[in-house]
Amino acid sequence: MKDKIKQLANDLAGEFVANRRHLHQNPELSYEEFKTQQYVATRLKEIGITPTEIANTGLVATIEGNNPSSKIVALRADMDALPIVEANDVPYKSLNQGVMHACGHDVHTASLLGVSKILYNLRNEFDGTVKLVFQPAEEKAPGGASVMIAEGALLNPAPSKMLGQHVAPNIPVGKIGFREGMYMASADELYFTVKGKGGHGAMPELGIDPVLITSHIIVALQQIISRNRNPRYPSVLTFGKVIANGATNVIPNEVYVEGTFRAMDEVWRADALARIKKMAEGIAESMGGTCEVFIQKGYPFLKNEPELTRRMKGAAVEYMGEENVIDLDIWLAAEDFAYYTHHVDSCFYRLGTRNEEKGIISGVHTPTFDIDESALEIGAGLMSWLAVSELAL
Ligand SMILES: [Zn+2]
Ligand SMILES: [Zn+2]
Repeated sequence: MKDKIKQLANDLAGEFVANRRHLHQNPELSYEEFKTQQYVATRLKEIGITPTEIANTGLVATIEGNNPSSKIVALRADMDALPIVEANDVPYKSLNQGVMHACGHDVHTASLLGVSKILYNLRNEFDGTVKLVFQPAEEKAPGGASVMIAEGALLNPAPSKMLGQHVAPNIPVGKIGFREGMYMASADELYFTVKGKGGHGAMPELGIDPVLITSHIIVALQQIISRNRNPRYPSVLTFGKVIANGATNVIPNEVYVEGTFRAMDEVWRADALARIKKMAEGIAESMGGTCEVFIQKGYPFLKNEPELTRRMKGAAVEYMGEENVIDLDIWLAAEDFAYYTHHVDSCFYRLGTRNEEKGIISGVHTPTFDIDESALEIGAGLMSWLAVSELAL
């Protein structure tokens, strides 16, 4: 089976690249993936697969093997692009000015289309069902994954296992990365408005200084990370925007603050968010001002089910060779695949796309991000192999 998949992936590699280039040239922003949805639907129908529209711009479909209800494994690709002006001078450069596939979601979508073709060809040779999940809007709250789940993407049929992959510009092409357990962080946005009473900088006694209040809040909140957090769970609190808008001699009326809180545990996350709100409000009040706290909750933390991840890593070793399968460190970025991981045993792994010799080294979300396209053959072939390995269990 493995050799058949490898052969098909190799035979079809040119098609994977063509699909990826079409998607790359025609990127669409989160929740606006209408043409992408149509493109994917057309390719699936050509193969012989009938997709169903979901979440406005998403698609689900199934490939039934023998004894289709024996086991169901879902495979996910995200399809949205970012508001970035592409700086690459390549023949497949974005034709949609100001929008760019700078996070590799074109690669994920093209890979899953490749998986669709490979596994449809081999459908008489495995037991169970492969569920294809093409989701919109990974990059934007509330996250396309949450909408997909709300609209039933994990029902009828309900998968017992789910896999997702993401390009990795820091991992050389030809290598794959896995991590068991907590892997990526929850990310919540914090917005504070600290109010005092402005006035002349020379007469602070007549006002209530929101700049000083804000300073105390920012310093004090770090103790939530250092004193309240269980050191076993990584967590980050960062404030990247503070606007006071006074002057050398003007105390402003209010200060506006924005930050991010990230965590690797849902109980701790809820506890920390409550502490942040209480402490910010309490400090402001004790100093005569007020602090309005608004928290925009983002994606949950991403957990890779350990046993499934161990099996997928083993299957990857069979497909790629031991030397090409690496262990990942935890990473406090967020990813909406995390929603699925709280509903079904899941494994989210990294596909190496870096090629220093070709100068392909830029990070995701940058105007010069690109991939070594030989990653597509691996992206499609390996995911096919991981799915049938799990179905064979
Ligand atoms: Zn991204
Ligand atoms: Zn991404």
